[in-house]
Amino acid sequence: MRPTGFASVDRPEVWPRLRGEPRPERLEASLESLPGIGPRIAARLRRLGLGTVRDLLEHRPRDYQRAVGESRIVDLFGEQEAVIAGEVRSVSLRRTRGRLTVLKATVADESGAIPAVWFNQDWLVEKLQPGTRVRLRGQLRRNEFAVRSYDLNGAASTADLAPIYPAGEEITPPRMRALVTAALARARDYRDALPAALKVSEGLPTRADALVAIHHPRTLEEAEIGRRRLAFDELLLLQLGLARRNREREREVAPGLGEPGELLGRYRTTLPFELTPHQERAIEELDADLAREVPMQRLLQGEVGSGKTVVALYALLRGVEQGFQGALMAPTETLAEQHFLTLEGLCRDLGVSVGLLTSSVGKRARDQAKDAAILVGTHALIQEGVELHRLAVAVVDEQHRFGVEQRAALAEGRSPHVLHMTATPIPRTLALTVYGDLAVSEIAQPPASRKPVVTRWIPEERASEAYRRLTRLLREGRQAYVVCPLIEESETSRARAAEQEAERLRRAELKGFRVGCLHGKLKPADRRELMRAFTARELDVLVATTVIEVGVDVPNATVMIVQEADRFGLAQLHQLRGRVGRGAEQSYCLLVSRPKEELTDGAVQRLEALVETTDGFELAEVDLELRGEGQLLGTRQSGLSDLRFTRLRIDRPLLERAREAAQELVDDEGPLSDELERAFANVDRAAAA
Ligand code: ADP
Ligand code: MG
Repeated sequence: MRPTGFASVDRPEVWPRLRGEPRPERLEASLESLPGIGPRIAARLRRLGLGTVRDLLEHRPRDYQRAVGESRIVDLFGEQEAVIAGEVRSVSLRRTRGRLTVLKATVADESGAIPAVWFNQDWLVEKLQPGTRVRLRGQLRRNEFAVRSYDLNGAASTADLAPIYPAGEEITPPRMRALVTAALARARDYRDALPAALKVSEGLPTRADALVAIHHPRTLEEAEIGRRRLAFDELLLLQLGLARRNREREREVAPGLGEPGELLGRYRTTLPFELTPHQERAIEELDADLAREVPMQRLLQGEVGSGKTVVALYALLRGVEQGFQGALMAPTETLAEQHFLTLEGLCRDLGVSVGLLTSSVGKRARDQAKDAAILVGTHALIQEGVELHRLAVAVVDEQHRFGVEQRAALAEGRSPHVLHMTATPIPRTLALTVYGDLAVSEIAQPPASRKPVVTRWIPEERASEAYRRLTRLLREGRQAYVVCPLIEESETSRARAAEQEAERLRRAELKGFRVGCLHGKLKPADRRELMRAFTARELDVLVATTVIEVGVDVPNATVMIVQEADRFGLAQLHQLRGRVGRGAEQSYCLLVSRPKEELTDGAVQRLEALVETTDGFELAEVDLELRGEGQLLGTRQSGLSDLRFTRLRIDRPLLERAREAAQELVDDEGPLSDELERAFANVDRAAAA
């Protein structure tokens, strides 16, 4: 789309002409360097995550106000929003003892007159000379009209499109607008990072114009064009980072692992099942990558329970067979332990040693673990633990967080083949954004014997029905999970709550059944024993915190009750549900929540989506819609959290073009412009913080 209707014009009412050269360093200045911002306001802004002039300029409006009809001045009453139109009679400027400036203009229409008040917009005084026609949007405050937005001399309709910021309680909306407006005076301090040719070919305004457009749009279209320019910058930076990393990787060398041999033959025969066609295809793709000396970078994507772990272990064993070590890195200790249990079980008959590296493992045991053929641990421990020259294959379990930095750290100084494993279906756009051109293997179909889990949403007052269904299945010889409410506090208090709930259930709904309790505070040995007992059917029910989210794998467990399901995120519930439906029997997931009327819209939509579909991709799209991109993966490290202006769902074309542009810039081999380098440095700094 060309920026028709977008004029890079003088907008003196929001943006005084800047004299002299841009001074980008001023963007990093603290907010107290702006007129009218003292330590108190600065502290409040900091609580909103706004520390510098740049932060404020890049504070994205989440929406814009829509038109309200004009009122006669005499009809103004109460504090509701109103628009008045009239002529300036007189104007005055006053400075308070703080550094606030108060600009007051008496505005009159045919019905009466009223003082209109602006804060910290001194430069307007020249524009508000007697006789000026104004249209003001604001509200009555102590017999004055507090202006939120305005148009002068009939210029377009800014008054109707005042930005709405995600400000919260700390700062009132008009104040926030005034603050942003004050910051806009510095917008020209950006040196525009985009090469001019690119701006022309993409039809993008300058960055400074774009910022004015999003904070003071005259039309919604203009705001959107501004947003797209800012989104393009974000995407370009992200893609440049990826393109550069790919470029570096091409120069790295990993051990070529030839063809699979005897160990892998034995691995296939020890598996109690045939691999599915999808697993076989993924393995073929892996084999091709591993034969080369270019380090593999592959994403293995598939639903929970689709059989990724079996494939990941195949990759690790390929290295082991050639005398190298393999490593599986998990994002948390609990996950690392669970992976350890799974891999250890599968490797025992193969005579392949598996070691666990977590901080709760003692030093001596850790040193021993380091010699194992396959190491399982958290990112941090593996990084310090693995002898560089012996690592051939690393599997990075991303679960639902992407550790961009962690991945970068792994690659530093060594170049193993890397397989990223994700159970969270990632919409294609998101995958491109985060991984760039990573090759993807997908296990799109679970083993054929599976039936989709039947999901029901049950209001609390009918929770007893859920337990009746559960105990009926227990009597038929099935096993079950009960997931305790998600409490925000510490792992310790979650553990305690789970223990109490298990005790209560033993006396009440689950009387007569064998109930175990799994939580993050159990010692690894106890947890292993508990899992063993559950797997061996010595327990009927596992009451658990979200630690069962991943890795627990008991096909005979066919029913799950999630208490207070409305408190969980969509991705998390989907993961939890993946613990059932792993065998041939029909499985059930019963989501218990407060009554619908008491839930937020978001919670209702999440629960409805889960009842409606078990398709992870569909759910990921819903999640994207409900949560916005930055938060989708629940992480600050993903690089996605830097996407403030991008809306992946609609910016796919923009993303593709940013990718192309990034590739061209990197292919040119020449140095990037100073400004792009600086932008990079800023992003790096933000990422390091
Ligand atoms: P994921 O890691 O994708 O969540 P897993 O690899 O843990 O899935 O597999 C889930 C369950 O399915 C495990 O019990 C595993 O043993 C079993 N499984 C894996 N592949 C197959 C297959 N080809 N046929 C039958 N069961 C399988
Ligand atoms: Mg698994």
